[in-house]
Amino acid sequence: MATKPPKGDPVQDAPQVAGPKHAAAGLPAVGHSLRISQRQMGLKRTALTLLRVNQKEGFDCPGCAWPEPEHRHTFEFCENGAKAVAEEATLRRVTPEFFAAHPVSDLATRSGYWLGQQGRLTHPMYLPEGGTHYEPVTWERAFDIVAEEIAALDSPDEALFYTSGRTSNEAAFLYQLFARELGTNNLPDCSNMCHESSGSALSQTIGIGKGSVLLEDLHKADLIIVAGQNPGTNHPRMLSALEQAKAGGAKIISVNPLPEAGMERFKNPQTAQGMLKGAALNDLFLQIRIGGDQALFRLLNKLILETEDAVDQAFVDEHTHGFEEFAAAARAADWDETLTATGLTRAEIEEALSLVLASQRTIVCWAMGLTQHKHSVPTIREVVNFLLLRGNIGRPGAGVCPVRGHSNVQGDRTMGIFERPAPAFLDALEKEFGFAPPREHGYDVVRAIEALRDGRAKVFFAMGGNFVSASPDTDVTEAAMRRARLTVHVSTKLNRSHAVTGARALILPTLGRTERDLQGGGEQFVTVEDSMGMVHASQGRLEPASTHLLSEPAIVARLARRVLGDASRTPWEEFEKDYATIRDRIARVIPGFEDFNARVAEPGGFALPHAPRDERRFPTATGKANFTAAPVEYPALPEGRLLLQTLRSHDQYNTTIYGLDDRYRGIKNGRRVVLVNPEDAAGLKLADGSYVDLVSEWKDGVERRAPGFRVVHYPTARGCAAAYYPETNVLVPLGATADTSNTPASKSVVVRLEQSATD
Ligand code: SF4
Repeated sequence: MATKPPKGDPVQDAPQVAGPKHAAAGLPAVGHSLRISQRQMGLKRTALTLLRVNQKEGFDCPGCAWPEPEHRHTFEFCENGAKAVAEEATLRRVTPEFFAAHPVSDLATRSGYWLGQQGRLTHPMYLPEGGTHYEPVTWERAFDIVAEEIAALDSPDEALFYTSGRTSNEAAFLYQLFARELGTNNLPDCSNMCHESSGSALSQTIGIGKGSVLLEDLHKADLIIVAGQNPGTNHPRMLSALEQAKAGGAKIISVNPLPEAGMERFKNPQTAQGMLKGAALNDLFLQIRIGGDQALFRLLNKLILETEDAVDQAFVDEHTHGFEEFAAAARAADWDETLTATGLTRAEIEEALSLVLASQRTIVCWAMGLTQHKHSVPTIREVVNFLLLRGNIGRPGAGVCPVRGHSNVQGDRTMGIFERPAPAFLDALEKEFGFAPPREHGYDVVRAIEALRDGRAKVFFAMGGNFVSASPDTDVTEAAMRRARLTVHVSTKLNRSHAVTGARALILPTLGRTERDLQGGGEQFVTVEDSMGMVHASQGRLEPASTHLLSEPAIVARLARRVLGDASRTPWEEFEKDYATIRDRIARVIPGFEDFNARVAEPGGFALPHAPRDERRFPTATGKANFTAAPVEYPALPEGRLLLQTLRSHDQYNTTIYGLDDRYRGIKNGRRVVLVNPEDAAGLKLADGSYVDLVSEWKDGVERRAPGFRVVHYPTARGCAAAYYPETNVLVPLGATADTSNTPASKSVVVRLEQSATD
């Protein structure tokens, strides 16, 4: 067995390993935030900036989409929020001189961490066809280049307009408007890769693809089930909400293949008691086998049905449809099969049931652990069945809570960033702007990559994000990207996507959330929507990283003017000058935004309407909340193989790598680690500290390999392993996606572990 790391990046291949921690936040988190912030911003800028994060007069944290409470602390951010802000407000700069010193071929060899650490982009940069280096370019020339390539297309459907979830509502609205005026619905977004399964399942069952709870509902719940989610790293301030819920008497069940420190104990840095001792959060930890969640909820549903008076019959009769078919399927659930699918014991499930039956107000929260499997959509529908049975939707302290990952990913979708727009939305656009939007559906992320791969798409434009690192099947995605005629990235910082280019490439540097946005009409603010449908303003105060930056709305408006020319009657110039004029149009096109400018001027913003939550009205095809009855699925695991989930480290936000540690899991100074249960490791003869290649096995017979991972014995569920993305995205084929939602199935990858070659 290999015991030395294979040759490669000496930093990334040298992880040191200690045991996992059993508490999150506290003093170490405060110290870590301050260290990173000072390193990137210096002391004064750190203080000035962090005091404005998530404040009513400040800017929205560019990290996750967790909502802000009504009454805010002076420090209303978490460790990972501080890291996200520090990355953006850094004093480091990537100038034209940097690009002159680093050819694209050199950038392509660098790690994502190294690229991100170079600092903020300062100038628009252009890679000409056949060029080796990016060169500075004027904004006018940059827009000309995009216009030239779009004009050369046979159809607007050969262009792709990707959006990452940081984009503001205003920029997103303009961006989709531009794409549709051009004539395409090719608007893939990062939501295609994360919560699309939630949207698909919820739209069908409750009639709206968003969560049905507000922050105060968490505080009122009797029971909160946190499934397939690690809030301590991915939505850290959710821990405060869980702590408050517990203080009010709520019980918490977490359902996850890995024990996570944040769910074990939260040391709230805002309170003395929290700093000293902290609060235990989990009342019950169900260490489920990867992909066993649908089976678990199905059995719980059967047990509820079999318990006298446990079903809220009045709610079921008045508000739901499809109960009989669902109940027949649930009654057929089998204990033995469920124990196999979940890896849980009968006693654990019975304990969960007793907590469920004792609760009058239950919330289920989830994240990627539920959404990125082949059977994710039926899994989430089963969660909805579970809540509907006891009337837990449309009642204070109860409901569905998909927790969104990127700060405005939900808002972008509300603004029309969607490849399959609703006809009513297109009708409203047509009425407001006087053009006929395309009605054909566009490409989602996976289909966009296939279109590039097959030569059906030639221009790729990304509004933020790091597309090649976020996407599955890395080798295929990168080869597809290299086939494009033009790749364009609107970015604040350097990332791998800038090094994997089409024949021509542009980097368009943009303002960050922390920065002042001065336009012809004066200082502007933008708006965002959080994970619970609250819309609020965000205004930066720092001087921009460079005088050459444009805001995202300005980039779209100028691009649209250049590309669409006189054919467009849209007042792009006015939109660029004054974002209030964009909000006026949003108010006329998108329901729930009436009187947008006045309402967003209120401190804290406003809540978007949500019919199931507000009125127990379900805008589905049946006019009721729909029970569903899909067959139970769970991943099969061949002998000698492990089921791998991809996940983030604590020093990571989506594809942004802030550092090389995963403090809560006891990993330091390295990312190429694979966490394996010690008993599985013994069976596979994998010593802790040995090095293996991860090789995924799919029906297509193609071998996909991620080399050089250090084995870490770790208390994962039996048969399950875990390793970080984007390093493991290479293992997930483009075609391995969730049914209906087409979300990459990155959480259930069958792998064999092979000894690494060391030379
Ligand atoms: S919980 Fe999310 S939004 Fe809040 S500060 Fe942390 S990263 Fe930012």
